[in-house]
Amino acid sequence: MMTEPPHFIPGLMQDRPLLISSLIDYAAEYHGRREIVSRAVEGGIHRITYASARDRAMKVAAALRDYGIQPGDRIGTLAWNTHRHFELFFGISGIGAILHTINPRLFEEQIHYIVRHGADRILFVDADFLPLVRRLLPYATSVEAVIVLGEASAEQSEGVDRLVDYEAWTAQHLPIPDWPAFDERAASALCYTSGTTGDPKGVLYSHRSTMLHTFAAAQKSAMNLGCDDTIIAIAPMYHANAWGMPYLAAMTGAKLVMPGPRNDAQNIVGLINEEGATFACGVPTIWTNVLEHLRQTGETIPSLDRTTIGGSAVSPAMIEALAAHGVRTLHLWGMTEMSPMGVVATKTPDVEAMPKEKQRHQLTKQGRAQFGVELKIVDEDHRALPHDGTTAGALWVRGPWIASGYYRREHEPLLDADGWFPTGDIATIDPLGYMQITDRAKDIIKSGGEWISSIELENAVVAHPDVMIAAVIGVPDLRWEERPLLIVQAVEGKALSVDAIREFLANRVARWWIPERIEFVAAMPLTATGKIRKTALREIYVAAAPSEKDETA
Ligand code: AMP
Repeated sequence: MMTEPPHFIPGLMQDRPLLISSLIDYAAEYHGRREIVSRAVEGGIHRITYASARDRAMKVAAALRDYGIQPGDRIGTLAWNTHRHFELFFGISGIGAILHTINPRLFEEQIHYIVRHGADRILFVDADFLPLVRRLLPYATSVEAVIVLGEASAEQSEGVDRLVDYEAWTAQHLPIPDWPAFDERAASALCYTSGTTGDPKGVLYSHRSTMLHTFAAAQKSAMNLGCDDTIIAIAPMYHANAWGMPYLAAMTGAKLVMPGPRNDAQNIVGLINEEGATFACGVPTIWTNVLEHLRQTGETIPSLDRTTIGGSAVSPAMIEALAAHGVRTLHLWGMTEMSPMGVVATKTPDVEAMPKEKQRHQLTKQGRAQFGVELKIVDEDHRALPHDGTTAGALWVRGPWIASGYYRREHEPLLDADGWFPTGDIATIDPLGYMQITDRAKDIIKSGGEWISSIELENAVVAHPDVMIAAVIGVPDLRWEERPLLIVQAVEGKALSVDAIREFLANRVARWWIPERIEFVAAMPLTATGKIRKTALREIYVAAAPSEKDETA
């Protein structure tokens, strides 16, 4: 709590709360005919306008209230990116209840845990998740009703009691006449981020944090969104609210396109072209697949102007491959705990003035902090390190859309004495303010007393045209303490040899970085949010037990 100074004079401006419901109101009024397009779970393409989406969100709100849902109650969703999920974002949060987006790709025990921990009263689910819900319900005693978004087959609904049909349920209600007004600091949404050790942790967003994040993310220095944009929201709504896309689309009046249950490259490329997407967001593994699809089919994506890519480091090779298709990469670094945006790699006049090659190098870094996010790097004694672009340290962040604690673990201290949050990442910050992640703290490799950046090494390897995905992990070494082990998934149909890769790396990284051991896998193990699952690789390739690691989410 801020203490009021002795001569506190309040400003005389209207104290209107920043509420998520105001976004859909604005979109309906000023961009009412703009479309929300999704690949429906039941097949085909579904179209709706912002005006009807508000109407339907207000019906959801009416139905929830009529059911007895109170502000602060948690309502779970197990759903793809579709117009119905979009309506729930506003219908649930709009009446002060908490939207709990559940990641269906987590390990099942983790899903059981988070539904129990969140104590969700209602679950909204796409029909294809009903078998999962059937297994979940015996453990989830808080769940009173399961509401199916769309039609479910007899087979899908078998054994699921408390089942309600979403369309029929909402159709029985008139939209609420107005959204309620309440304290903007009220919780709006809950998203768990999980580790292989320890229980998943709930990040509890507020209306205020979400609204401030949305204002900031729309800016030119970040995503530069406007009503002439068509956003394709590829990042799932269960991963940090699709990186804020439902809110951003409503605030800016952009057309919103959602891939529904299909995040395959064919669906994504089809939607980009059919709907004229200008802006996208997604993790690198999605773009690896999209680029491979474009290479194989010869298709193009001429409408797409730019995409934010984050969740894992984007390699310079990927940025170049997208640029060859006319797509500008906005490298983004963030966390579920940061709503998720922290930094974005956009150009400043200083960078614009650089020769092209230097510009490219600069924009492969994760980027500059957006207004509202503070960054610091510190050494092992928590002393601030210089922003010289070479000194790497533990990255800490502070700002009004960054978590201060985890849901129902509020007593566990998370921040340092000055209110900074530990990201668990290692980074450098250069004199122009561009931050670069060199490693996840737990992935860093120390060889002969010197650091090897697994990200930099991976980036060098994926520049090889026949490499699809590369991962580097540290393995114990008697002489050097640790050595990098490289694991490669080749492009389909391409054969790669250890020698060929070592030769390729010869001029690209320091000699002592080149791994002696290189292994090939048919499919790289990925986490529930599309990152490389290094714990799984360690279990296979390193005899030692896996280290604790936040990487299943
Ligand atoms: P999540 O909460 O699942 O979004 O994961 C957040 C973590 O993903 C960060 O702490 C980073 O370790 C990693 N991450 C996110 N974006 C990037 C990026 N652009 N480059 C490297 N790592 C990233």
